[in-house]
Amino acid sequence: MNILLATSNTHKKEEFARILTEHTIVLPSELNLSFDFEENAETFTENALGKALSLSKVVPKGYAVLADDSGLCVDALGGNPGVRTARYGMEEFGHLLEAGPRNEYLLKNLKAFTRKEERKASFVCALALVVDTHRIYTIEESVEGYITEEADGRGGFGYDPVFFVEEAGSTMAALDNGKKDLYSHRGRATRLLNTLLGEI
Ligand code: IMP
Repeated sequence: MNILLATSNTHKKEEFARILTEHTIVLPSELNLSFDFEENAETFTENALGKALSLSKVVPKGYAVLADDSGLCVDALGGNPGVRTARYGMEEFGHLLEAGPRNEYLLKNLKAFTRKEERKASFVCALALVVDTHRIYTIEESVEGYITEEADGRGGFGYDPVFFVEEAGSTMAALDNGKKDLYSHRGRATRLLNTLLGEI
């Protein structure tokens, strides 16, 4: 299947392509489509679905649309930043933060929580696939972990250096690609999507 991925994030494209090996994934920019969507719903799945439906209005024939909305939910922050994960720290700093300073900001906000049980978090990934008007699917998956006291690892992107996956025994950024896919929120959701794609 030809799949148009509703994002400009090339890391996400690579992660999908590693699992959806029998399908072709392209970004809007590769089809000269400009795409922007305001993610202002209260759930990951609603944001992913909104994004996918919006892009499906302009998708060329022969493409399904896939959208991903993901985010970090930290127990000690009452589940925040959640659906506002990409914009975390924006109110305080007045602009979108790069991943490095954003991770430091998160670590600073958790300074008072010194035990790992107090630093529990989950990474959530919602996917929405629009094949055509009457074939629309959503999947939501997550991985449990905790926020480290300092960044570790050079792989992945975003919050990977500060998100420790207990099952894997390291931060997401210290895992090789295959291991990240095995444990991550997006890896789990994408494997389910792969199964679904085999059925439709
Ligand atoms: P969005 O889904 O593009 O809105 O991404 C939400 C935020 O979570 C972005 O700032 C990403 O950097 C971050 N994020 C999404 N997926 C991952 C991941 O797999 N690892 C680390 N950070 C991620």
